[in-house]
Amino acid sequence: MSKDIISILPDAIANQIAAGEVIQRPGSAVKELLENAVDAGATEVKLILKDAGRTLIQIIDNGKGMSETDARMCWERHATSKIRNSDDLFRIKSFGFRGEALASIASVAQVEMKTRRAEDELGILIQIDGSELKKQETCQTHVGTSIAVKNLFYNVPARRNFLKSNAVETRHIYDEFHRVALARPEIAFSVYHNDQEVFNLKRADNHQRISDLLNISSEKLIYDEEHTSIAGISVFLGLPEISKKTRGDQYFFVNNRFIKDPYLGHAVNSAYEGFLAPDTFPSYVIFIEIDPAKIDINVHPTKTEIKFEDERPLYQLIKAISRKALASKIYIPETGQDDLGFAGILQNSYNANSFPTEPKVKTNPSYNPFANQGSNQVSRNRNVGKWEMLFDIPDKKLDPLPNLFGNEDKPAQSGHKIIEAQKLNWSIDALMQWDKFYIVVSTPKNLIIIAQQRAHERVLFEKYQKNLNEKPEASQQLLFPRMLEFNPADTAILEEILPDFKLLGFDISPFGRNTFIVNGLPAQSVKGEVKEIIEGILEQYKRNLLNEGQSSKDLLCKSMARQNSIKGGVDLSKEEMNQLVQDLIQCEEPFFTPDRKPVFLQFGAADLNKEFE
Ligand code: ADP
Ligand code: MG
Repeated sequence: MSKDIISILPDAIANQIAAGEVIQRPGSAVKELLENAVDAGATEVKLILKDAGRTLIQIIDNGKGMSETDARMCWERHATSKIRNSDDLFRIKSFGFRGEALASIASVAQVEMKTRRAEDELGILIQIDGSELKKQETCQTHVGTSIAVKNLFYNVPARRNFLKSNAVETRHIYDEFHRVALARPEIAFSVYHNDQEVFNLKRADNHQRISDLLNISSEKLIYDEEHTSIAGISVFLGLPEISKKTRGDQYFFVNNRFIKDPYLGHAVNSAYEGFLAPDTFPSYVIFIEIDPAKIDINVHPTKTEIKFEDERPLYQLIKAISRKALASKIYIPETGQDDLGFAGILQNSYNANSFPTEPKVKTNPSYNPFANQGSNQVSRNRNVGKWEMLFDIPDKKLDPLPNLFGNEDKPAQSGHKIIEAQKLNWSIDALMQWDKFYIVVSTPKNLIIIAQQRAHERVLFEKYQKNLNEKPEASQQLLFPRMLEFNPADTAILEEILPDFKLLGFDISPFGRNTFIVNGLPAQSVKGEVKEIIEGILEQYKRNLLNEGQSSKDLLCKSMARQNSIKGGVDLSKEEMNQLVQDLIQCEEPFFTPDRKPVFLQFGAADLNKEFE
């Protein structure tokens, strides 16, 4: 018996393992195929999808095509025309370069490719099922390449089961599409999903492409550029007035490659400081052209992070250019002293690496620049009315709450105990609002402090759950139906939650091409402008969408509750407070918000006595 136990993995298995890394979902295949078409010099690219890419992803390009040998070779692992030696790695201008994408795709799908070069009379047809060549023959075809990827993950059920809903997968695909299409305005792109045209982008310049793809009318998009020794930077900034309730249209490209960079994102966001309504997000696209030697892109192929030699001057530059661009269109209020001013930064950038002032913000991937929008204290004193819009504020104010609850093992300090999950049994003697955030309730046995927004979120959450499970909410017809247009990714989400939306009292129907017609709203518990209500719910929904383990119904109820709850900072009348407390008493789980945050604190005589000891 042989003692040797090591053997070389068969190619098909090695490819599948690579596929696990490179091709995680339909969106990743779309990305790789689009990038190959771009690398092949195509001027026209068509993307055809069925069932969020599960059954079909087809990309047809008019690029340079492949020879017969290349058409066979390109499916082999580490087959690439883009690198010949290790020096090439540092000069790489094309998108793909590891030669893994096609081999990976072919290992987990059924693919059919037709390709022809201009100099060849006949093209080649290749069929591969799970890495196995099924057919290779000459065929009639146009110049360029068409690759159809069918039944992705047909032979890897674990992967297939791991995929999210069609709405989520479609969103990933469109995200990838945006990242390629924005950077390549000179290429015409069209996208069809389930036989419907979703995008049709003519060849254009950057300004026009951004305006077409992000649906921003051209005059609402400000443009500026600067070429410095550090980098060339072009900024396209949506005017503050078109900022949206939903984040998403914020893009950075380095040498035409999409990147994610929260630090540089902060530079742009801070340029907008002062003119955005709370909880709205600006749209922008920033292109950075930089010497490839000054960056490190040799990272994981699916990663969008990038390393810069020195990011601080870039931060300063981007902020200054953005500020300048915005200033050309709108009045900019005085800012703090940390602003160098545009001339100052550029001057510094030319003659020194060091800067007189560092940006105050350190890189932090989880940093959310919007969370701090408008310091609490300032907006509080200046403009009480604005509070109603700041729905994240109560959490901030209530931060100490979870700690109080969490102190169970130090009872001497806090005095009150974790409350058991049970229904409430309060007979209320008196109640008042305190500090516009809390309702203080006195009962014969207890002093109770309720966080008003959290209480209302709980109440609404349970109400919406009832709507979905037992008794649909009545819908109040609008006097004038409203047409709303969404981007394709949001459209996909909305279509998926539409049936539940109806049970919640929204009378909405699809109207084709990313438009919806709203005929009615829930008779109860929504207020505000139709567009804002729906966008707000969508935004809440999307924030939680990628979290595991939550049913889409719960998610929707939670998002609606968040969006429609009475916010902290809002004056409540006696009747309103009474109603809210009564509703809370009726709740099945009154102690926690749908996010499992405490809703109220309760002190008995013993607790108080202890505090006075
Ligand atoms: P990479 O892009 O990293 O080189 P891929 O597996 O994506 O690796 O592609 C392998 C090779 O196949 C490419 O280097 C290119 O020569 C060829 N190829 C792939 N797609 C196309 C296309 N649409 N048109 C022409 N050639 C292509
Ligand atoms: Mg490639």
